[in-house]
Amino acid sequence: MSAKKNTQAPESYIQGILKGEIPVLSRAITLVESTNEKHRELAQKILEGVLHKTGNSFRLGITGVPGVGKSTFIESFGKEVVKRKHKLAVLAVDPSSNKSKGSILGDKTRMEQLSVMKDVYIRPSPSGGTLGGVARATYETILLCEAAGFDYIVVETVGVGQSEVAVSRITDFFLLLMLAGAGDELQGIKRGIMEMADSVVITKADGSNLEKAKAARTEFARAIHFLQPPDSGFTPRVEICSSLENKGISEIYDLLDSYKTFAFANNYFTKKRKDQQFELLLNTMDEQLKSAFYSDKEIKKKLDQISKNGSKDILPFSAGIEMVKKFLQK
Ligand code: GDP
Repeated sequence: MSAKKNTQAPESYIQGILKGEIPVLSRAITLVESTNEKHRELAQKILEGVLHKTGNSFRLGITGVPGVGKSTFIESFGKEVVKRKHKLAVLAVDPSSNKSKGSILGDKTRMEQLSVMKDVYIRPSPSGGTLGGVARATYETILLCEAAGFDYIVVETVGVGQSEVAVSRITDFFLLLMLAGAGDELQGIKRGIMEMADSVVITKADGSNLEKAKAARTEFARAIHFLQPPDSGFTPRVEICSSLENKGISEIYDLLDSYKTFAFANNYFTKKRKDQQFELLLNTMDEQLKSAFYSDKEIKKKLDQISKNGSKDILPFSAGIEMVKKFLQK
C-alpha cells in the first residue's frame, strides 16, 4: 500500500465503503490492521463514519483443527449463502501465522470458486501480531464489511490455542468442525471448545467415512447433552456434511437460520452483541493499562533489577502491590 493512498481523507473512504467499493474496503481494512498510529487514527475516523451502517449481518465463527476441512466447507457453504441471496465476507483469525509460513486464508488455492464469485469478499488473515490486536482488527473489519453491504460474515480460526475464544467473542454463532475418527471421538478436543460451540458439524461424511461420521454424530450428540447448555437457550445440534459432495450443506444453512430466528425472538441475539461490545471495551482497557504499566521506564528498570538479582528479601506480593501503587500515583 502506498503512503499516498493512506493519506486520503476519511470522507472518501467512508463514501467508497458505503457504496460497496471493494478496493476502498480493502484499503480501509489495511488501515485497521496497521500498527502505525497515523493509520489507526484514520481508521478510527472511518469507523466512526460508517458505524451507523453496521450490525446488520450474521456473524458466524468457524473453527476446527487444521485438516478438518474448514476451507473446503467454507467454499461449499459459502456458495449456499450466496444462493440464499446474501453478500458474504470471509475473514480469518490466525495470530500465530506469519507471511513466510502463509496465513490460513493467504493460500490462493483455497476457496477457488468462492473467491471469484460476485457478492463474495475473502480477506486473508492479518499476519503476526498479538491475539488481542488481531481480534480487535477482525472486529473492526467485520464492521467495515457490514458497512460495505456484506450481511453474512464468516470468521475462520485455526483450531489451536486461544483464537477460538477471541472469535467466539466477536461472532453470533460458533460452529465447531470435527472429524470422525477411530476410537474415542472426544479425544484431543478441549472441553472448553465444545462448551463454546453453538453446534458441531462432522466433516467428510462421504464414501467409506459416512458410517463413521454417523456414529460420531451420535457420540457427539450424547456428549453435548452432558455439557452446560449455552446461555442462548438454543440446544446445540450435531450435523454431518460432505463439502466435496455438497451434502448436508443447505441443512447447516437452515440450522443457522433457525438459530437466528430463535435468538432474535428471545432477544438473546441483541443481548449477546451488547455484552460482546462491553467485554471488548473492558479487554481493551485491560490491555492499555498493562501496556502503559510495563512500558513505564521506572517499572522496567525495577523489574529488570529484580529479575537479575532476585533476592530472598523480596516478597513478590507486597513488592508487586507497591510497584502498582507507585505507578498509579504518578
Ligand atoms: P482445513 O485445514 O481445515 O482448512 O482443511 P481443508 O479444507 O484444507 O481440507 C483438508 C483435506 O480434507 C483436503 O485434502 C480436502 O480435500 C479434504 N476434505 C475437505 N472436505 C472434505 C469432504 O467433505 N470430503 C472428503 N472426502 N474430503 C474432504
